[in-house]
Amino acid sequence: MPSVVVVGTQWGDEGKGKYVDLLSGRVHVVVRYGGGHNAGHTVVVDGQTFILHIVPSGILHPGVTSVIGNGCVVDPDAFMTEVQMLRGLEIEVGANLFVSDRAHLILPYHRLQEEREEDKLGNRRIGTTCRGIGPAYEDKIGRRGLRVGDLRHPDFLKEKLDYIVREKAEQLGIASDAPKLLAECEELLKRFTAEALTHISDTSLLVHESILAGKNVLFEGAQATLLDIDHGTYPFVTSSNPVAGGACTGAGVSPKAIDHILGITKAYITRVGEGPLPTEMLGELGETIREKGAEFGASTGRPRRCGWFDSVVVRYANRINGLDALAITKLDVLDSLDEIQVCTHYDYHGERIQEFPGELSILEECKPVYRTLPGWETPTAGLERVADLPKNARAYLEALEELCGAPVEMVSTGPERHSTIEDMGTSGKSVLDSWFGEPKKNPAA
Ligand code: GDP
Repeated sequence: MPSVVVVGTQWGDEGKGKYVDLLSGRVHVVVRYGGGHNAGHTVVVDGQTFILHIVPSGILHPGVTSVIGNGCVVDPDAFMTEVQMLRGLEIEVGANLFVSDRAHLILPYHRLQEEREEDKLGNRRIGTTCRGIGPAYEDKIGRRGLRVGDLRHPDFLKEKLDYIVREKAEQLGIASDAPKLLAECEELLKRFTAEALTHISDTSLLVHESILAGKNVLFEGAQATLLDIDHGTYPFVTSSNPVAGGACTGAGVSPKAIDHILGITKAYITRVGEGPLPTEMLGELGETIREKGAEFGASTGRPRRCGWFDSVVVRYANRINGLDALAITKLDVLDSLDEIQVCTHYDYHGERIQEFPGELSILEECKPVYRTLPGWETPTAGLERVADLPKNARAYLEALEELCGAPVEMVSTGPERHSTIEDMGTSGKSVLDSWFGEPKKNPAA
């Protein structure tokens, strides 16, 4: 039975949440393999909108096991708030949710640390969500982090926390506040332990055994390729590895365990926070797309910068991730445009650049070179069949395929589960049917 990685191919917010939700109906286990509660997946089910930050969207499907993998960092408050929110909506959260014993904890001092660092950077700030995620990863790499599994050993936890909080308070220049900060952390962890203890597990083993038992597993990335700590636009990146390879380290599975990789790609491009965006639409057009596409951060409400489709970016994402298929989102947002630009390559001081550059100083000077395509000026919102797509919309999708080097197998035409064209492939069959077989009523049965 297959395992599939869902990965963002641009700067995030591609609409992964919708596809993960769609695929969750076909799998037994959904695993988040990286990031913290800065990821905001928006899922619309029967007209109801769910915004999930840390709990995998598999939780919305009865009978599916949801896993927060070892590659994630977990904020106890965010976890508890989200679990309460889900229960309040009568969604089951119990033996269907597991948190890796090896995932790292985000604690109140991480937030203080991040705010301090962003302030110090002034106009060179990264534009992070200031939720303590970066500093928690720093502590992980610095080998001084606290892990979820430590909650099972209260004496060890107390001793380590006591030491770390004093160190942190000193670094932050608030040494006299250390007892207050310690009490805050202890109180938080006490509440979290009561809630989380039954969910803690060796999730790498759980996933391994699920695969051996022939179950379908979905690995859900947070953020996206261009925000990857290694492969993204450093330093305007996240602190983990959202790329498909990150699924192996962040979930604790072998590369051999991955069968398919699905790249989620917006029909245009957006980016939140700082950093270069070569195809940025400035002025009125950018505003129009932002409004139409509701391009405001699911986690922070920050307006996203919008741009034309950049095939240099998605070609690069194809290479780094090894995409089997592209799943396009938000095609409907472009419905009213009479002309659409697609960036084919960059011009860097007269030099033709086809491959995404590693250095920010080069990227900043790259000018996009566009191919202009006619718009379709016909509503596509809610379409479910390729045959119903306007000719120019199909030509647009074919151009993306050609430029990115990966087949477009699915197209999303609205936020709802059913607003999805699945019969894009040449076989006329849904790629999901060929990966997973025909859908079962209850995949857990
Ligand atoms: P994610 O983090 O990659 O899941 O992206 P977000 O959840 O932040 O952004 C996706 C937003 O776009 C959500 O509000 C979705 O409901 C919405 N969305 C997803 N697919 C489509 C689509 O095809 N068309 C439109 N109009 N909205 C979509």
